Amino acid sequence: MITEAKVNGVKARPTVEERFGVPMHGAANPSTGNEGTSPGSMALAADVGGPLMFSSPDTPGMPGVSGKTAWDFLPAGWEVETGSTAHQSCGKNKDHRSGDLCYQFTDSRGVTRRVTVSAGFVPITQLEHARLGIVTEQMKRVAQREGHVSAEQVRDEVAAGRLIIPANTVHLKYRLDPMCIGRASKTKINANMGASPVSSGTDEEVEKLRWAERWGADTVMDLSTGGDLDECREAILRASTVPIGTVPIYSMILGRTIEDLNRELILETLRHQAAQGVDYFTIHAGVVRAHLPYIKDRLIGIVSRGGSLLAKWMLVHDKENPMYEHFDEICDIMREYDVSFSLGDGLRPGGLADATDNAQLAELETIAELTERAWRRGCQVMVEGPGHVPFDQVEYNMKLERKLCHGAPFYVLGPLVTDIFPGYDHITSCIGATAAAYHGAAMLCYVTPKEHLGLPKRDDVKQGCIAYKIAAHSADIALGIPGTRDQDDALTKARAALNWEKHFELSFDPDTARALHDEDMDVDTDFCAMCGHDWCSVRISKEIQEFASGKADGFERGAPVRSAALTVEQRQILESRGVLSPEEIHALAAKSKHKVGAKSGVKAACHSDYVADDAEAKLVQGV
Ligand code: SF4
Repeated sequence: MITEAKVNGVKARPTVEERFGVPMHGAANPSTGNEGTSPGSMALAADVGGPLMFSSPDTPGMPGVSGKTAWDFLPAGWEVETGSTAHQSCGKNKDHRSGDLCYQFTDSRGVTRRVTVSAGFVPITQLEHARLGIVTEQMKRVAQREGHVSAEQVRDEVAAGRLIIPANTVHLKYRLDPMCIGRASKTKINANMGASPVSSGTDEEVEKLRWAERWGADTVMDLSTGGDLDECREAILRASTVPIGTVPIYSMILGRTIEDLNRELILETLRHQAAQGVDYFTIHAGVVRAHLPYIKDRLIGIVSRGGSLLAKWMLVHDKENPMYEHFDEICDIMREYDVSFSLGDGLRPGGLADATDNAQLAELETIAELTERAWRRGCQVMVEGPGHVPFDQVEYNMKLERKLCHGAPFYVLGPLVTDIFPGYDHITSCIGATAAAYHGAAMLCYVTPKEHLGLPKRDDVKQGCIAYKIAAHSADIALGIPGTRDQDDALTKARAALNWEKHFELSFDPDTARALHDEDMDVDTDFCAMCGHDWCSVRISKEIQEFASGKADGFERGAPVRSAALTVEQRQILESRGVLSPEEIHALAAKSKHKVGAKSGVKAACHSDYVADDAEAKLVQGV
């Protein structure tokens, strides 16, 4: 909040809030030191430990919050008493009635709970530990990384089901650095990667993993559908410091047809990947037969790979989705290793014309039911969301999920807010992702410039990660998450002081910032090539004695100096700016055509028009 200012001892004009009725709702200023003159965040007051957490004000007509949490969906046989009536003499792990175990603790909001579980119960998942009041090492690490929440608050949010720590107990033995996903924490981003039947391999995917981590991916999904899936997954798990997610149905059908899918295959594959250390599984259990009639009027049907495969299975066998039918058994395997659910939205819209339709929302209702069932079996849950959504519908989608799924973290793909910019979908989706994160998403799945067009390469991964770091960070500032604007403020001060070294150092991508500056002027001056010396407003402001602006402590400009030569990487950044030349594009296209066996002047042989049956398609794709 702005305090009343005085100039030369004279009372200044009323604050902007007093004069203009700026709609402040009590959110903290995201700048630790209330730097500058902005009134700060216009979001709602933080409610960590409550259903709102960090939240945008609701536009009229939006769904409200749920009155329930994961505490309302406990495993059979568990009992919880809350409030001051809790049994004061009962200590943790002390034998209780009929040999039951009793855990009593007071949460960070002062609510005392006594939780009774059957004798011999041993907590495995972060959710189970949190429900018993236990602060795990992973919760402590998460609180340390977040900075604005305590380990006890992390525990309480995990217990409420509003926050997850995707940390498979096997992966924790390798290099995993625990992180969390939820609205009480900062917004996270995911990078997808994985070999396809026509491109990439294990070494290239591990290289992409390192690249994604370097550019800020908080989790990585291995979506491989080609090459040696097992070897690739194992290599990624052993190399990664971030949680790894998979869509196990891809492995289930490799070398088979979807019709072969059965209970044994599902459970065996899940157990294998869980034992390997995968931290979260996308499970498309929310697509059920009752939803399929809603698809026929869509412009683009089902665009989720898992959703389309399972829809085909249901139609061929005339049976219910096996992921839905065997959901409880799936939960039990995931609990054993603390693999978190990412409940997949198999019916997500594939274009603006199909957004927020019956199919999508009916599936969300089923996902809400599955969320409750997974909580009852001790599993951590996040929910996947769309996809392609017009800008005006983003808030509604976020708040409907918050209500139906009782605040379970929402993990959204984009969403793209327009469909006519293939090649730039990291931008079209980054706009939707920023709105989604402001209104309710907890994690954003990146989209790269290759979306809808091909398999992302290293630079596409970088472009996607950066676009989504921008979305996540912008939303966190808007929500008033404490301290999230501090680096922005520090950069603003360096920029005002024309301190180029500091300006580059504080940039998210220092190499690109320096390369673009030095491309025009590799001399450290008190202006840059954009406006030139005489027109540099920052330099002129700096000279105005009354302004505090630009007077950075400890920074004195010396004589102009020439910067060191650009590094190889910075030169490459400049060389690869803009678009590829027509010759380069042609060379790349020719390479792909050769790889998939296309003859000169005709479509690739793997094009569906040219494949007689499934067996030939598999042959062509080398699976
Ligand atoms: S020359 Fe223009 S763009 Fe460059 S520092 Fe000055 S005001 Fe900013």
